[in-house]
This record gives sequence, structure tokens and C-alpha cells, in this order.
Amino acid sequence: MIVPRHRVVIVGGGNAGISLAAKLLRGGCPDVALVDPNEVHHYRPLLSYVAGGAATLDDLRRPQADLVPVDVHWYEDRVRAVDPVASTVHLAGGRSLVYGDLVLCPGSEVDWDAVPGMAEAVATPHASTSYLPEHAPDTWDMLSVLTTGRVVFAISDRHVPCSPVGLKPLFLAADHWRATGVLDALTVDLLVEGSRLAGTAQADEELRLAADAYGVRVRTGTAVERVDPVARRLDLRSRVGTETLTYDALYLAPPHRAPTWVAASGLASEGSDGFVDVDPLTLRHRTYPRVWALGDVATVETSPSGGALRKQVPVVAHNIPASRAGVPLRHYDGYTVAPVTTSRSELLLAEHDREGHAEPTIPFPDLARPRRSLYVFDRYVEPQIYWHRLLRGKVS
Ligand SMILES: Cc1cc2nc3c(=O)[nH]c(=O)nc-3n(C[C@H](O)[C@H](O)[C@H](O)COP(=O)(O)OP(=O)(O)OC[C@H]3O[C@@H](n4cnc5c(N)ncnc54)[C@H](O)[C@@H]3O)c2cc1C
Repeated sequence: MIVPRHRVVIVGGGNAGISLAAKLLRGGCPDVALVDPNEVHHYRPLLSYVAGGAATLDDLRRPQADLVPVDVHWYEDRVRAVDPVASTVHLAGGRSLVYGDLVLCPGSEVDWDAVPGMAEAVATPHASTSYLPEHAPDTWDMLSVLTTGRVVFAISDRHVPCSPVGLKPLFLAADHWRATGVLDALTVDLLVEGSRLAGTAQADEELRLAADAYGVRVRTGTAVERVDPVARRLDLRSRVGTETLTYDALYLAPPHRAPTWVAASGLASEGSDGFVDVDPLTLRHRTYPRVWALGDVATVETSPSGGALRKQVPVVAHNIPASRAGVPLRHYDGYTVAPVTTSRSELLLAEHDREGHAEPTIPFPDLARPRRSLYVFDRYVEPQIYWHRLLRGKVS
């Protein structure tokens, strides 16, 4: 059987893969192939709004066939392994592809094994997550009908894409509870595994103020270790030890992991939890120079987000031909962003670099303060930029 060969093979047609394919074509790359099994593309940031009752799944879904650039060779299949020594990708359907350059962007996936009982819990009406399209609408069904009892929001810091956005359903729901007069009858606990609610000190402070205004009890440095979906009980671990907490409703921003074939293909390093071992500056693999990675699957030493991809995509699109031509490679500075609603009409941006220093896109006004204009931008304008500019490779 003749094995097809492509100048560039991209694995994953999500935010990173489609944007990069379009950008490479615009830059004159003559032969780009994309591997992705999904017929439907999701604009994932709107999942938080679905979970908060402010969007529907129809708002965030598009046929993948409308988004893959026409000059890209699309393999509707799933990668099951990579042989980086033979420069070959093996697909689940049995075919193989040979690449000149390989770009890995298959994202990450929910790690159901990380917290025993979590999968069973989200199968009940008392627990849910915004992190999967099949559960996001259930989250609002669960939250919107609450009139009494304890609701717990638990945000992991283990590779969760854009983890502070897990607070969006909380604040959208809290505003709804206040408007419908039930907020005082609810006990709302927020458990955050990391030390901050968002990546900058200022955004952390703003979000704590907002939580306080709704009477939300905030605990950082607290992880869910086990869920008992029958007793509706959580085992928690924090610096002070272990404890249990019961719930009537549970929202989870669950731990994520890399696809297992990444490590099995020898593309992860020790201590990277199976994520692709790239130089965080050039996004080039540390061992295999013709392999690149970006997006949620790459070890870039900063919080993964769609906003981070606005910077990563142009870097990889430049570095692939630059490395062939022997000209200097560009660097990704570690910029990332988390847009967090503080009500059903206001939102702030936590924008920062790899070290957690604020890195605002514009110096004025202060976007780390909740603003109406930012809510409108994030909910309504940003999706249009995504469909019509980012996925078309038009952002430099
Ligand atoms: C609920 C939620 C809310 C978010 N909110 C925001 C936000 O407000 N702002 C923000 O900046 N970021 C946000 N993010 C993060 C952002 O969506 C991700 O960082 C971004 O989608 C990562 O892009 P990616 O291309 O790396 O991965 P993905 O978008 O996950 O795409 C991965 C693609 O790879 C494909 N794939 C997987 N395995 C294989 C395989 N074996 N073979 C071939 N293809 C494969 C999948 O089908 C998918 O199309 C949010 C994420 C979630 C889940």
C-alpha cells in the first residue's frame, strides 16, 4: 500500500489545528494535512455560558467541513500512535501517513480516574460539569432550579483548560439566585485546588470580592479526592488535612490528562504527566526537531487557553518554515488569558505571562476590573472573531 506523504501533518482540528492549518496555507505552505475524527467543531469557551444559562449548544457548534480550509487534506480519522523516528503517523482506521513536519494539537481530555466517584456522580442529576458538551446544559438544569441546600463548585488545577472559567457558571448562577430571591437560602462553597482564583493577584482579589458579595465561601488549596454520589459526599484534602463535605448540587472543573498515545509514542518527558515535551519558547519538540506541539497538549509552562493560542499559532506557523530555512525561530512569551464573569452582565480578564505577571493587551482601561463591555465582547463578539478570523488564520 502506498503511504501518503505530506509536507505538514497536523493532529487535531480544534482551535489550534484549524487556525494553524489556515495560517500555514496563507504563508504559502503547499501541502497541509489534518487528522481529526469529529464532524462537529465546538467553540468551547461558550460551554461556560451554556452551563450558566446564557447560551445554547447551537451557539457553539459548526460543521467541521465548513471550517477545514479547502486546500487542506482532511483525514476524518483518529491518530492512535506516532513513530517519530520513521516520521510516520498511524491512524485508527489502519492507514499511515508520512510527514515532513508533524504538529500535535489533540488537546487534553477529562481524567475521570483522577477522582474516584466523579464519573458516577456526573451521571446523576446532582452533579455536572461545563467541560463536556454533553454535560454543559445539565449544569444549568441543575443550578437554575435550586432554592435551598448546599451547592459546591470544585475547580481542579490539574491541566484544566483555562481553569478560572470554571467560575463562570458559579457567578452566572449566583446572579440568577440573587434575582430570584433564593441566594440567602443557599450555602455556596467554592473549592479551588490552586492558590488563587485566577492567574494574577489583581484578578484574584476582584473575584474574591465578587464571591464575597454573593456570600460564597471560598477555599483555596483544597482538592476533591473522592466523590460518593450516593451519599452526595466529598472527601477533601487541604494543607490542614482531610475532611468531608456533603452537597445537594456539585459543579466540577475536573482534572485533565494528555491522550495516552502521546507518552506511548515517546513524545512526552519524565514528569510532564504525558504532555508533549516541547521547548516552551519555540514549541519545537526537545528530542525530535521535526515535531511541534501547541495548545492544551503542549508543555508550555503556562495555563492553557484559547487566548494563548492567539500567540502560539503565529509562532509555530513561522518556526516550521524558518527551521527549514535555517533562520532564527520566534518565541512564545507564555501569554495566557482567562475571561471570568462576575455576574450576568460583567466580566474581567486575567491576562498574564508565564511568571504570573500581568500582561494586559491594552494599557487602558484596566481589563482586570469587571466591565459590561467585556461581557458583551466575550459572549457575543469573541465567537465571531473565532469563526471568521482565528480559524481563517487571519490573526498575526
Ligand atoms: C468549558 C471550557 C471553557 C473554556 N473557556 C475558555 C475561555 O473563555 N477563553 C479561553 O481563552 N479559553 C477557554 N477554554 C480553553 C480553550 O477552549 C482551549 O485552550 C482550546 O480549545 C485548546 O485548543 P486545542 O486545539 O489545543 O484543543 P481542542 O480545542 O480540544 O481540540 C483538540 C482537537 O483534537 C482532536 N483530537 C483529539 N484526539 C485526537 C486524535 N487521537 N487524533 C486526531 N484528532 C484528535 C479533537 O477531536 C479536537 O478537535 C475553555 C475550555 C473549556 C473546555
